[in-house]
Amino acid sequence: MATRGMLIVLSGPSGVGKGTVRKAMFQDQQRDFVYSISMTTRQPRPGEVDGVDYYFRSKEDFKREIADDGMLEYAQYVDNYYGTPLKYVNQTLDAGKDVFLEIEVNGAMQVRKKCPDGVFIFLTPPDLSSLKQRIKGRGSEDMQTIDKRMHKAVDEIKMMRQYDYAVVNDTVPNAVQRIENIIESEHLRVQRVIAQYEKMIGVGEK
Ligand code: 5GP
Repeated sequence: MATRGMLIVLSGPSGVGKGTVRKAMFQDQQRDFVYSISMTTRQPRPGEVDGVDYYFRSKEDFKREIADDGMLEYAQYVDNYYGTPLKYVNQTLDAGKDVFLEIEVNGAMQVRKKCPDGVFIFLTPPDLSSLKQRIKGRGSEDMQTIDKRMHKAVDEIKMMRQYDYAVVNDTVPNAVQRIENIIESEHLRVQRVIAQYEKMIGVGEK
């Protein structure tokens, strides 16, 4: 049986650029880990494709998934639901492949409880003004929504201490490189590889 894959969770405040960093990670090159596509009840933005960017679903469908225990985690975020379908994550980890989630902080805390051996990475803005610029620059929301997201973001930054790593998103390539380094190091943790080496030297064998 394959060694179970590692769960990598990228989270952080609204507008910090989690989506951009995640897309850059998977666009640049082939990865040993796969992205878990989230489900959401929000409307697609221009250019977004169902089954690629998100599974776009109705509130009724989403609530049915929750009732059927089909979600690893979910959160209500600015009037919409977002969540991680459980089946794909479990199947992929069981097959020995790493899974990468890009989710907001409340969802990440649910995953932390369920999968304590996951790797939890908090993406931070270099400062608050650049965060506001990013939220504004997205251009898809009105002023009221921008303020709402900004307030939420500040509250979310307070949750950093619950994570294993803090990665500054000063530039996307830098942030991607830091995340790659973390993943590589995490794979070298004795705790993750000890069973394989004990098997090699016959420890535990009669
Ligand atoms: P957006 O609407 O900008 O695509 O995403 C809004 C927020 O939802 C972002 O912070 C994004 O990381 C988060 N998000 C996306 N997918 C999921 C998910 O499956 N679960 C949770 N909890 N948050 C998600």
